[in-house]
Amino acid sequence: MDMKDKEREYIINTYGRDPVSTPLITAGEGVYVWDDAGRGYLDFLSGLAVNSLGHCHPEVVDAIQTQAAKLMHTSNLYYTEPQIRLAEQLVTHSAMDEVFFGNSGAEANEAAIKLARKYGKAHRGPDAYEIITAEQSFHGRTLAAVSATGQPKYHQGFEPRVGGFRYGIFNQLDSFAELVNEATCAIMVEPIQGEGGVYPASREFLTGLRRLCDENDLLLILDEVQCGMGRTGALFAYEHYGVVPDVLTLAKAVGGGLPLGVMGARGEATEVLTPGTHASTFGGNPVTCAAGEAVMKVLLTPGFLEHVQQVGQYFTERLSTLAQRWGKEVRGLGLMVALEIEGDGDAVARYCLENGLLLNCIGGNILRFLPPLIIGEEHVDAAMNIVSSALSAESSG
Ligand SMILES: *Cc1c(COP(=O)(O)O)cnc(C)c1O
Repeated sequence: MDMKDKEREYIINTYGRDPVSTPLITAGEGVYVWDDAGRGYLDFLSGLAVNSLGHCHPEVVDAIQTQAAKLMHTSNLYYTEPQIRLAEQLVTHSAMDEVFFGNSGAEANEAAIKLARKYGKAHRGPDAYEIITAEQSFHGRTLAAVSATGQPKYHQGFEPRVGGFRYGIFNQLDSFAELVNEATCAIMVEPIQGEGGVYPASREFLTGLRRLCDENDLLLILDEVQCGMGRTGALFAYEHYGVVPDVLTLAKAVGGGLPLGVMGARGEATEVLTPGTHASTFGGNPVTCAAGEAVMKVLLTPGFLEHVQQVGQYFTERLSTLAQRWGKEVRGLGLMVALEIEGDGDAVARYCLENGLLLNCIGGNILRFLPPLIIGEEHVDAAMNIVSSALSAESSG
């Protein structure tokens, strides 16, 4: 049996991969991946914002290999060095005071949800457990994280949802303010909605949420699973807004390609989870944390984030030119950008794939780009040529 037939035979079909058009990727280096037929692809999706330093970044590979040969796992019954060092780096370079390690974005958000409920009970009373999240948000697929996610299509068939989530309208402060009552314990949003279509929060909205939380003793949880770790040209997206969260969740790029999730907490929020209240067997594993240390080191190299800002700006300008001709709108920040088009986005994405460019389409007409942060203008030009021909091809039917 061929590999793709075996996939169909042995793997539960949650991803809907298509045996004809979906490539089987066998290798990656820098901004490129290759499939089993030896075809190369310019990767403007980075494994969904995970491979932010490009594929197989030598410093990440070296950190993983060295640590794997030394100690792979001991459980959290014991201290391990990479975990403590990565925590120190994350705390030093963020507004967070302490962190908890898990293995994914959903788990980081689960930890944040548990923390918020416990905080609410202690600070606002036994019935303060509601968390206000945004419509069109995405917080992950575990039952609580998917309940926090304000998109009915992700709930369908899994009801009843975990209780205690209410949904406000993103970028409409009033709609959040109206939902605050004595049952509320926290507000959780993505500074830039990713899965929902790449919608940046407005400054007014995020600063307003911060004020709302301060006035009502609520925790402000920012989900930076997708937009954090340098993606927007700042180490963390909240830096663009002058807003500091009480709880910050990270995953995707933080482990350099290995599964790692982080929930950071600040101030009183660090005191909420106590021994025995939360745990993860793998969380903060030595190998994933060693990879995370290497990622932090590269992101903090002088000039790295400036590069993300510059190439992000160039990319946005190139996309805006395309948008004048084909599109409705260009949105985003740094290297988390989208082009919303009038035509069939899925057809455009398919054309790009066939012509050696990976990107994805959300909601039928939003082309989402999450390229490695190490791309240069020449890669943007190459990608734009393909997208441009794809748009021409699509419009001529
Ligand atoms: C991807 C994503 C998640 C879920 O992360 P997983 O690692 O898939 O569990 C949560 N929040 C945001 C904003 C995301 O983009």
